[in-house]
Amino acid sequence: MKAIFLDNNSTTQLDPAVLESMLPWFSTPANASSEHAFGHKAKEAVECAREQVADLVGAAAREVVFTSGATEANNLALLGFFGALRERGGCLLTSEGEHRAVLDPATELERLGTTVVRLPLRATGIPEFADYCKALNGSQNAFPPKSQLVSLMHANNETGVVLPLQKFAEKAAEAGVLFHTDATQSAGKLPLDMKLTPVDLLSLSAHKLHGPMGIGALIVKQRSPRIRLKSLQFGGGQEFSLRSGTLNVPAIVGFGKAAELAKANLGREAQTLSALRNQLQQQLISGIADAELNGSPELRLPNTLNLFIPTVQASALVAHVEGVGFSSGSACSASTPEPSHVLRSMFQQIGEDEAEDRARCSIRLAVSRFTTQEEINNAAALIISGVKHLRQML
Ligand code: PMP
Repeated sequence: MKAIFLDNNSTTQLDPAVLESMLPWFSTPANASSEHAFGHKAKEAVECAREQVADLVGAAAREVVFTSGATEANNLALLGFFGALRERGGCLLTSEGEHRAVLDPATELERLGTTVVRLPLRATGIPEFADYCKALNGSQNAFPPKSQLVSLMHANNETGVVLPLQKFAEKAAEAGVLFHTDATQSAGKLPLDMKLTPVDLLSLSAHKLHGPMGIGALIVKQRSPRIRLKSLQFGGGQEFSLRSGTLNVPAIVGFGKAAELAKANLGREAQTLSALRNQLQQQLISGIADAELNGSPELRLPNTLNLFIPTVQASALVAHVEGVGFSSGSACSASTPEPSHVLRSMFQQIGEDEAEDRARCSIRLAVSRFTTQEEINNAAALIISGVKHLRQML
C-alpha cells in the first residue's frame, strides 16, 4: 500500500498546476530587478503573483512583501515593528499557543526590553476574550497602556482551532493597538478579507497551500499613519526596502498560482476537507473508545484533527504506524522531546503533569486536497490497530 500522508499542516504536496507554472522560470535568466527585457518579463510575473497573493486575503498588491516563509514574515512583523519604534521597549500582547516563529522573536524582544504578555489558552484552544480585552486596555499591571502590537494566530497549526479574528482584531482597533496575525494555516482554507477585518500585518507561507517551500509573505496594511517596520536585512532594497535580496521568481510565481487555486476552490474545498476529516475522526473515535478531541469541535480548520489517546505515547504510535504520515506535535518542534506547548497551555487547569501527559499522548492528523476516501479508511484502520498493539504491550 502506498504511504498515506496525513501531516498536511507540516507541509502539503505541490499542486501539479503550481509546478507547471514554475517550470519555465527555472530555465530563464530572470532577475526581476534587471532593466532589460528579461528583467521586465520576470518583474511582470512577480507582479502578477503579488496580485494573486493579495487577492487571497483581500489585500492590495502593494501590501504584499515576499519573504522566505512565515517564519521570516513573523520575525519581520515583530522584530521589525518594535525595531522601528523611536524608543526601545513597548509592549507586545500574544498567547502561549503561538508558533515558535512568534514565541521566539517575542522572547528576543523581551531580551531587548519589550514587555511581552502571553495569554494562556483555554481548553477550547484560544485565549479568553475578557483576559485579552483587559490586557489590551492595559488594566493588568503587566501590560501598561503604551502597548502597541498584538500577535495572535488565526488558526493553530497543532489543534486547527480558529480564533474569532473579527472580534479580536476589532477590539484591538478600538484600543488603537496594531494587530498581527499568523494566517499560515488558515489561508486558503478559511475566507479572509483584510478589507473587512482590521488586521494590520498578516503572515503567509506558500507550502501550506500546495505551493513551493521557501516562499511566503508578510502583508503590511497601507494605512495612516503608516506602519513603520525596520528591515531585518539590508542590501538591494527589494520589496519596498523591507526585504533586500534577489527575488526568487519561480517560487513567487508558484506561490501566486497556489493562492489563485486556493481562492478559486475555497468554499468547495473546505467542504470536501471537513467531510474527510470528520470521517477520520468518527472512525478513530469509534475504534478507540476513550479517544478525545483536543480543542473546539466547531471553531476548527476543516482539515485538522487533534486526538488524545490515553496511555498511548504519540511518538511511539507515529513510529509504529509506518504506512501513515501523521504527527505527535508540530513538525517544527517534533525534533525536540518537549511535549506540545499548545496542549500544555490548553490543559493547564488539570495540573501540569496531567497536561504534559495529555500532550505526550495526543496526535495530529490533517487531510488535504489530495487525500482520498480510501486513504482515510486505510489510515483509520492502521492507527486503530497500532493503538491496540501498543496497548497490549503496556
Ligand atoms: N506559523 C505557523 C502557524 C506554521 O504552522 C508554520 C509552519 N509550521 C510557520 C509559522 C512557519 O512557516 P515556515 O516554516 O514556512 O516559515
